Amino acid sequence: MQIKSLSATGIRDFLQCVLKIVFRYDREIVSVKNDHMKIGIAVHEAIEQFTRRMLVKKSFPDASDYEFAISSFMNSATQVGLETLSFYSDGKKMVTDYIDKYDPSEEILDVEHRFKLTTPEGIPIVGAIDKVVRVNDDTIAIIDYKTSRTAMTNWQLQDDIQLSMYDLAASIIWPEYTNRILYLDYVRIDKQVSTYRTEEDRVTFREFLVSLWTQFNKVEEEEVRGTINNLCGWCDYKIYCPTYEAFINSDSIAIPPLSEMEDADFLNHWTSVNDKKSALEARQREHKIKASERAMRGDDIKDGTRELHSNQDARTNYDIEEVVEIMPQEDLFTVLAANKARLDRYVRDHPELKSPLAKVAKVNYNAPVFKVRKAAPVEGADVGKPDTVKDESAA
Ligand code: SF4
Repeated sequence: MQIKSLSATGIRDFLQCVLKIVFRYDREIVSVKNDHMKIGIAVHEAIEQFTRRMLVKKSFPDASDYEFAISSFMNSATQVGLETLSFYSDGKKMVTDYIDKYDPSEEILDVEHRFKLTTPEGIPIVGAIDKVVRVNDDTIAIIDYKTSRTAMTNWQLQDDIQLSMYDLAASIIWPEYTNRILYLDYVRIDKQVSTYRTEEDRVTFREFLVSLWTQFNKVEEEEVRGTINNLCGWCDYKIYCPTYEAFINSDSIAIPPLSEMEDADFLNHWTSVNDKKSALEARQREHKIKASERAMRGDDIKDGTRELHSNQDARTNYDIEEVVEIMPQEDLFTVLAANKARLDRYVRDHPELKSPLAKVAKVNYNAPVFKVRKAAPVEGADVGKPDTVKDESAA
């Protein structure tokens, strides 16, 4: 298969499922985006347009700038076909929160910087960096916006392919800055996380690209089969994918006795069950979205003997300040509990309370959570089959 260049998304797809790459590069099939992807596109567009406008104005944003950015978001969201109505208010809030924090003194070098480069080893790479900021004479910040609800952990940041790609590209485009801080700005949850790559990391990544490039170009389209994995439900190409269709249509999932399994089979089976569970959960989410859409139109889902029925659980909340006014003071401690998340936020602004609170904290442990991960190779062990265990947590 002939491809023109490597992108971070292409690499992630390749490592997840080679068939996805065949769909992406070879057959020119249009990817089907879900509403989570569409809101991401619209928020990115609005922030980019807003930032470009502010680069010209060089001032704090005023009401017209908010209006401009919100209307950029709305135009882009309708253009990409965002259907979930609640996502429109989510997107507007993300854009507004972003503008609230805008700092005109930031030295922005570029926004939405598209790159098409060749690495020193001759590997063509492409991508787009959301924002580049000059920190000082030696340092730049490379910023990528995210609209997801959870932020990457430190170890995920260290291994993230997109950030490694940005670091490598920035080292070629802006060589005068020897330090590059890599930021992910989670605009939905107002959280920024950062990392960096060492020279050694960069060299390893470049070697990784060489190896991937060779493997990409060895792919024979006709021989590729899909790999069911925990992200199939989110795959842009699942409606074209025969492997996914066969999986969704199969009525049986083999459940061999666990007690007789060798460890390698146990780990393979564990990974396979997890992947299938995630794919089925994604399918269930699609069911719920479709059922909600039809319910909103008053359109029942039923056959001759059954119908889809829904009920809504109610959750009751009390305003703490009003409760305190009503209840006798001496009984308050019998009903009130400290909210850990709010207490943690409070301690961030009152660090002197951290130590006394730590002394009275009570820690309880939940049931253990098991995950398959790569283990350090055992000396002398047979490592001839590196693909038998996939690191789920890296997906
Ligand atoms: S649906 Fe799953 S198996 Fe099919 S192309 Fe996408 S990732 Fe691969």
